[in-house]
Amino acid sequence: MGPEEIVVLVTGGSGLVGQGIKSIIEDERQLDPNTQKEQWIFCGSKDADLRNKTETEALFEKYKPTHVIHLAAMVGGLFHNMAHNLDFFRDNMSINDNVLYASYKYKVKKVVSCLSTCIFPDKVTYPIDETMVHNGPPHTSNYGYSYAKRMIDILNRGYHDQHGCKFTSVIPCNVFGPHDNFSLTSSHVIPALIRRMDDAMNNGDSTFSVWGSGTPLRQFIYSLDIAKLFVWTLRHYDSIEPLILSVDEEDEVSISKAAEAIKKAHGFTGEIIYDTSKADGQYKKTASNKKLRLLYRDFTFTPFEQAIHETVTWFKENREHVRL
Ligand code: NDP
Repeated sequence: MGPEEIVVLVTGGSGLVGQGIKSIIEDERQLDPNTQKEQWIFCGSKDADLRNKTETEALFEKYKPTHVIHLAAMVGGLFHNMAHNLDFFRDNMSINDNVLYASYKYKVKKVVSCLSTCIFPDKVTYPIDETMVHNGPPHTSNYGYSYAKRMIDILNRGYHDQHGCKFTSVIPCNVFGPHDNFSLTSSHVIPALIRRMDDAMNNGDSTFSVWGSGTPLRQFIYSLDIAKLFVWTLRHYDSIEPLILSVDEEDEVSISKAAEAIKKAHGFTGEIIYDTSKADGQYKKTASNKKLRLLYRDFTFTPFEQAIHETVTWFKENREHVRL
C-alpha cells in the first residue's frame, strides 16, 4: 500500500477473524508507529445490516474506505448449515452483492473477500488447490453457503473485466481462536467441543461425547495466524485469483486429535466417547498452501496445541461475555 491516506474497512469486524485482525493491528501499532497512517474500521451487524443495500451504501458513504477486508457472512457449523441451506445462500448472496457493488461505487482500491475450503467440490482430487473452486457440486450438507461463496469469485472476475477493479478473495481452512462462536446450535467443531467440555466439567461428568466418529481430518488455523495472513494479502497480494490460506498439508488433524488437545488444555480427566449416530460431514478436504508458500515462504504458524491452549484459556476467562 502507498503513502496516501488509507482507510481499511473490515466487514464482519466483530467476529472471530475480524477480532483477530484487530488484535494484530493493535500489536503492530505498538511496534511500528508508521502503521498509524492506516485507519482501520471494524464493523459488525450493529453498524449496518449488509443484507440491506441502503444500509451498506450508507456505511461506505460514512467511512469512505480505500480498502476493504470483507468477512461479514452468515457462518455456522455442519449441523446449522444442514438445516438452513436456503438462508445461508440468500443472506450471503445479498451481503456479497451489496458489499462488492458499494466497493465499486465508492471506488475502493482493493477488496479482499473470504471464501472457505469447505466450498470446494465434494468429489475432487487431493490436495485441493485454487483452480478447483468451480469444478463440481459442493458437499450436500452446505450447498447454500458454498454456492454463495463461489459467486464472490464470479463477482470479482466481473468487476475486474468490466471495470478494472482489484477485488480478490482468499480461501481459509477451518479457523478457531478467541472471539469464536461457542453456541450449542451454530458453532464449528472446535468451539463446540471447547464449550461442551467446559459444561461437562462443570456438571462433574465422567465421560464426554464427541459427535461423529472422530476420524474426519481437518486443517485448522489459529485466528491470529489467519489475521496476519489477511493483512499481508491486503498489502502484498495483487492478483484477483483466489489464494488458499491454510496450514501445511502435514498439519491436518483428526477430530479425535483435536478433542484430545482440548481435553489436555481443559485438564478434563474423564473419557472421550464417539457418538457415531451423528453425521461426520466430508471425510477430508485437504487443501494445498503451495501458492501461499511460494509467495510468503517463511510464515510460521502457531503450533496447534499452543493455539488450542490459548483459545481454551481465553474461553474460560471470557465465558460470561462470549457468544453462547
Ligand atoms: P463470525 O461468525 O465470527 O463473524 C461473522 C461476522 O459477520 C460478524 O462480525 C457478524 O456481525 C457479521 N455479520 C453477519 N451477518 C451480517 C449482516 N447481515 N450484516 C453485517 N454483518 C454481518 O465469522 P468468522 O469470523 O468465523 O468468519 C469470517 C469470514 O471467514 C466469513 O466470511 C466466513 O465465511 C469465513 N470463513 C470462516 C471460517 C471459520 O472456520 N470460522 C473458515 C473459512 C472461512 P455481528 O457479530 O456483529 O452480528
